[in-house]
Amino acid sequence: MARVYNFSAGPAVLPEEVLKEAAEEMLDYKGTGMSVMEMSHRSKAFDDIIKTAEQDLRDLMNIPDNYKVMFLQGGASQQFAMIPMNLMKNKVADYIVTGQWAKKAWQEASKYGKANKIASSEDQTFSYIPDCSDLPISDDADYVYICENNTIYGTKYKELPNTKGKTLVADVSSCFLSEPVDVSKYGIIYGGVQKNIGPAGVVIVIMREDLITEDVLEGTPTMLQYKTHADAQSLYNTPPAYGIYICGKVFQWLKKMGGLEAMKKRNEEKAKILYDYLDSSKLFKGTVVEKDRSLMNVPFVTGDEEMDAKFVKEAKAAGFENLKGHRTVGGMRASIYNAMPKEGVEKLVEFMKKFEEANA
Ligand SMILES: *Cc1c(COP(=O)(O)O)cnc(C)c1O
Repeated sequence: MARVYNFSAGPAVLPEEVLKEAAEEMLDYKGTGMSVMEMSHRSKAFDDIIKTAEQDLRDLMNIPDNYKVMFLQGGASQQFAMIPMNLMKNKVADYIVTGQWAKKAWQEASKYGKANKIASSEDQTFSYIPDCSDLPISDDADYVYICENNTIYGTKYKELPNTKGKTLVADVSSCFLSEPVDVSKYGIIYGGVQKNIGPAGVVIVIMREDLITEDVLEGTPTMLQYKTHADAQSLYNTPPAYGIYICGKVFQWLKKMGGLEAMKKRNEEKAKILYDYLDSSKLFKGTVVEKDRSLMNVPFVTGDEEMDAKFVKEAKAAGFENLKGHRTVGGMRASIYNAMPKEGVEKLVEFMKKFEEANA
């Protein structure tokens, strides 16, 4: 068996321990004589799985009691519509556009009401986070929307925007559980799990209870109403059961690793190894304003497309996979999520140094 160092932005690396456990339980989950894939979502065994997963997530993130946790489907992209459909009571929302995902969310919301782009960093290829301390928040905005970590461009909000009292909604797909957060500052925190938590097919929505109402836009399908899923404890219809099971295992792994404070420390150490090298290298350079750098997604370039392609090819041959940058940015991107071991980053930097020497 040869495992590679997988720097994919998503679906992405998972803890090896979790994969091994899942393999051991594949044919017979805890004496049930069946795989979790084969069991009823109404069974006692699955009830334990989903309840334990939710409790572990609540413990990890310190989720207050007045927040619901929902395990949904449709990916983060479905939330781009579900959020305005459920929250746009005044049909007005403010969007801060810091990358492709925020832009898509803003465009989708425009279908349902007045979605104001109140700030953007598109003028500089989304390489920074705009100053959000005093934005022109609309008086009648139903919410303010951000994408907290920009997977493609490698930026992260180090401070949340001043929403002037409006509900904050955040897509945290690519920084979910990478560091502690104060859930009480948000109305909704959500993310697809395939970046930093589990297999594709599950999206986790953490939502303040008072925002979950029947007062949604006319014509909103039952399946796209948060209330449907909140009332049914995520079991209104068949949930993505196997995915939830793996997420639960990752939550337990995170607890064993010391929780989110410990993950933050580990992630900072890992990212520093790579950023320090990029700052000192004569061949490679990072593409993001230093203060806004993400701990999870690290884009970099040589400035020469042929050299970039050569690097990606040689890195792949050496066991470093998925380093090619997003098609809209070019260059390279190393995604170094929770499950990427420090050793993976150290080895990558060693390889980059050798490549730099050979191509000086
Ligand atoms: C990947 C990603 C998405 C899209 O997720 P899907 O599950 O494919 O819909 C949205 N937002 C962010 C920040 C992402 O990284």
